[in-house]
Amino acid sequence: MVNEFLPFSKPCISSNAINEVVDCLQSGWITTGPRVKRFEMALQRYFETEHALTLSSATAGLHLALLALDLKPGDEVITTPMTFIATLNTIVLAGGKPVLADVDLETRNINVEMVTHAVTSHTRAIVPVHFAGLPVNLDPLYELAQAHGLRVIEDAAHAIGAEFMGSRIGAFGDIQVFSFHPNKNMTTGEGGCVTTRDSKLAERISLLRFHGIDREAWDRFGKTGSQHYEIAFPGFKYNMMDIQAAIGLHQLAQLEQAIERRTELALRYRRHLKDWPQWSLPVEANYPNKHAWHLFAPLLNPDAAGMHRDDFMMEMKKRNIGTGLHYSAAHLYQYYRDHFGYEKGDFPNAEFISDRIVSLPLFPAMTDDDQDRVIFAMAELFKGL
Ligand SMILES: *Cc1c(COP(=O)(O)O)cnc(C)c1O
Repeated sequence: MVNEFLPFSKPCISSNAINEVVDCLQSGWITTGPRVKRFEMALQRYFETEHALTLSSATAGLHLALLALDLKPGDEVITTPMTFIATLNTIVLAGGKPVLADVDLETRNINVEMVTHAVTSHTRAIVPVHFAGLPVNLDPLYELAQAHGLRVIEDAAHAIGAEFMGSRIGAFGDIQVFSFHPNKNMTTGEGGCVTTRDSKLAERISLLRFHGIDREAWDRFGKTGSQHYEIAFPGFKYNMMDIQAAIGLHQLAQLEQAIERRTELALRYRRHLKDWPQWSLPVEANYPNKHAWHLFAPLLNPDAAGMHRDDFMMEMKKRNIGTGLHYSAAHLYQYYRDHFGYEKGDFPNAEFISDRIVSLPLFPAMTDDDQDRVIFAMAELFKGL
């Protein structure tokens, strides 16, 4: 249907997932319980890691991973301006000062040299973001972290299914945070998870996600449990429900296939748009990796296109095609200007990208015809000038 609105992203929920949700609703147990347990086991197997802890969101995961650092006033956490604002917000919420390092113009990922310059005696951690699903060059980053005694918290919200040097993101390193928001590579409605091989850290996060109670409700109200529990410290209410895990179990099972289709579509965009002067297309990184293609986000060259990115997005909307803006450079939001003194010009690469980037429609159920419609609409739009 040519006139139907084509969104930039759309979750693809199988009938198996829908049936599992119905089963869950009818089972008498809908919050954190046996399905969350099964989902966590499945995630642990998928990532081949020690601990996979589900949460209500990736934001919750970032918050708890950062709280586990026990930051003192003045402590600094280095991250990228090319991210969703939750990455910076959670650093502030955990009591830290977000210190930004500019990104690489080509990969849009945090630049290790820039990170090196940003390290001070107050730095405690680095939060790299695997932008659009392209893994950050982690080897030099972890080397730097090791040399300075810093923890690395990977914001892997875009990166489930991505690989670095032949290993899955989530299978190695300190700690990774994944998002299961409906726009991401797989979804549980809302939701997220944290992966780590550090048992102490996992225990801390496990307590923090549920009031600081040492056993979750299923243990207490189930057949075998006792109703008594202890409070280790005051915690949050960041647990995932079984209703969400019911979706997640089947999303995880079809993830490989979903990423294959995302990759096909991304490469197809690249083939079709490669000679267009209006676009700077996403590039390959110069280290072995598998891109998870959460986003296909080229930069619009305003001179060749004859319009600014914002106008482009509006024109596409008029043609019933959705696009996304990922992201406006984070340091230029009012709160961060006011509280941390950031201003325009501080991170020129991030600002250059921020002014030009646009996410074109990309989701597993998108057909070649859908994609042709996007390409055709753009061709007409640019030609009509
Ligand atoms: C989506 C996203 C988050 C937040 O994920 P939620 O699950 O919605 O909390 C954090 N960081 C990045 C880079 C994201 O894209």
